[in-house]
Parts: sequence; structure tokens; C-alpha cells
Amino acid sequence: MTELLFRDDAYLKTATARVVAVRQGVVELDRTIFYPLGGGQPGDTGFLVRDNGERIAVTDTRKAGEPGGVAHHLAAGAALPETGESVGLEIDWDRRYALMRLHTALHVMSCVVIAPVTGGNIAPDKARLDFDIDITLLDADKISGGTNELIGRGVATETVWITDEELDARPELVKTMSVAPPRGAGRVRLLKIPGIDLQPCGGTHVANIAEIGGIKVLRIRNEGKRNKRVEIALRG
Ligand SMILES: [Zn+2]
Repeated sequence: MTELLFRDDAYLKTATARVVAVRQGVVELDRTIFYPLGGGQPGDTGFLVRDNGERIAVTDTRKAGEPGGVAHHLAAGAALPETGESVGLEIDWDRRYALMRLHTALHVMSCVVIAPVTGGNIAPDKARLDFDIDITLLDADKISGGTNELIGRGVATETVWITDEELDARPELVKTMSVAPPRGAGRVRLLKIPGIDLQPCGGTHVANIAEIGGIKVLRIRNEGKRNKRVEIALRG
């Protein structure tokens, strides 16, 4: 089990941790600020910093084999730290913050386009949701206008935890059909944007939706019978 520091504070840019396992270019730590790929959000990149100042590039972060583990993938040929060693952690904050803004923007957009979500993905420069909807109902100006209007409310986001049983009793909370809610240890993490959205999500979000600034719709495309894709980017 790795302590997931980003769950309680998505704004941690640095931290210290202890190496608990090293194998084939992958390092596991007792705690981490690196988000592992999941829920459409890519894994973080950054550096492990050794006491001697040596910086080891982390090129990707994935969930490790056992539940709750996080695998920090190192650059090929990089020097490996030792098990038990204390290391500094630094994430590529500009990249992560862009991901947080776009990720939170998708939550807001999912409340403007009222349809089941069949897929989604987030990259540092753009993000998308796929909807099971008649494509003629998707209007770029309406989607960007409606989303930006909600962003303009500038409300603070909250993390809420409920039990698996509570989630089972409220199936309407699950909008995304392609991504199972992040269950585990009997409780589920929800992102709440008061007055706008409430849904299970294990990702990292901005503290206030005003930080998104605004979005623009890059394109709307037919990706299949149940996948009408809306791709967005941050405005400006
Ligand atoms: Zn989310």
C-alpha cells in the first residue's frame, strides 16, 4: 500500500518518501504525490531526487500489481535508488495542473451535455468525453457557452466519501458507463461541485472551478453508434 498524498491535497508539488521496492526500472514508495494512470487521467511525470542531488526522471506512473500500490516508472538506463532510501519527490506541476483543470472541466461539461458518458480521456493539451446521444443535439457553441457559464460561478469543489452500499442505492450518480467507480476498502470517493455535479471519481481536481478559466470546443465527431465525441481545450 502506498499512501496517496494527492487524494487529500492535489496541490502538493513536492514531498519526501521512502523507497519500499525497486524492480526493473520501477520504484514503489511508502507515500507519493504522483497520480497513477486511471479514470482517463494519465499518470504523473517528474523526478525522484536523491540526497546527493541526483535527479532520476519518472516517465510514467501506474497502479502497481497489488491494490493500492503505485509504480513509478523510471527513464531507461537511469540509476536506481536503493530500497529503504529516502528520496525527494517532484511532479511536473505545469503538466499536472493542466490535467487538473481539464479533468474538472469535463465534470462541468458532463452537466451541460445531458447524456450517458461512454468514454473519456484527458491529455495535458486537450480532453474529451464520448456521449451516447444523437449527434445533431451536440452544438459546439452551446456546449462551450453552457460550460463556461457554470465555470463562471466559481464554486469550490469538495471531496466526499460514501460507502459502496450508499453508491449502490444511488445508481444515478454513475454517469460514466465505461469507467467503474473507484471502489475499494468499502468506500467510494466522489467529486462534488456544489449545485453542479456529484459523481464518483478518483482523479485530481482544481480546488475552485474558476481555476479552469474557460474552455473551447475543438471538435465534435462521430466515433460510433454510442460514441459521439466532444473534444475540448482550455481557452486562452
Ligand atoms: Zn474527476
